[in-house]
Amino acid sequence: MSGKRGLVMGVANNRSIAWGIAKATAAQGAKLAFTYQGEPLRKRVEPLAAELDAAIVGHCDVTDPATIDAVFAETERQLGGLDFLVHAIAFSDKNELDGRYVDTTAENFSKTMLISCYSFTAVAQRAEKLMADGGSMLTLTYYGAEKWMPHYNVMGVAKAALEASVRYLAADLGPKNIRVNAISAGPIKTLAASGIGDFRYILKWNELNAPLRRTVTIDEVGDTGMYLLSHLGRGVTGEVHHCDAGYHVVGMKNPEAPDL
Ligand code: NAD
Repeated sequence: MSGKRGLVMGVANNRSIAWGIAKATAAQGAKLAFTYQGEPLRKRVEPLAAELDAAIVGHCDVTDPATIDAVFAETERQLGGLDFLVHAIAFSDKNELDGRYVDTTAENFSKTMLISCYSFTAVAQRAEKLMADGGSMLTLTYYGAEKWMPHYNVMGVAKAALEASVRYLAADLGPKNIRVNAISAGPIKTLAASGIGDFRYILKWNELNAPLRRTVTIDEVGDTGMYLLSHLGRGVTGEVHHCDAGYHVVGMKNPEAPDL
């Protein structure tokens, strides 16, 4: 990744999946720039950026297009262009990540779709202009897009739309040699995940039933990201790649697992 420039959006702290991807790409020589969402997170992101000798390109709240424009202008100023983009952003009202999907409000449906799905397209529009020599874009999704998961609710619907947008963006941007992929990560204890009802149960269930009999780490997702963002993934686009200890192939509870 030496000589490659990447914008990483979605680091909140050192447990963030975006941080795992940042570490993996920086370890291979990439030059990174980080955004942060609001002042409280700036204080957490600055020391992490310093650890990787990464630039900070400012506050970005994807519900405010002016802040998206500003961080891309600053990225161009500081890095001169882009070779890859990491989008690791999602949000939904915690009250609706519990109970039944059928009770979702129109307001939270729209907000979840805007932040967790449309924002990838919004940043892809800006990133395309900075990827003069082609590039690679990556977002994060979850198996709840494909199958019902307890409490995942409207986020599952947003992730399904996000996965569809990966395919449409890949088709649109492929002629410019820009690849677009998603990693479908297994459950990991992060700030965003703590908003999901009964998340400890989901973690334990995966640990007992995934083929590898464990969950994945941000470093494992980071290495998968490294492959998709680098020359190693040059033939891959429009893909939703699972990094979940194999959980997505399981159709039934492991008969040897204890009851939860
Ligand atoms: P995290 O809390 O570390 O990261 C979520 C990020 O989203 C934060 O940096 C936050 O600032 C950002 N964000 C939220 N609303 C925003 C807004 N309006 N504008 C800009 N940024 C905003 O949690 P994470 O688990 O690392 O999440 C990263 C991505 O991975 C998300 O898309 C999440 O859905 C996905 N994912 C997580 C898991 C998991 O189990 N943790 C599994 C699969 C996929």
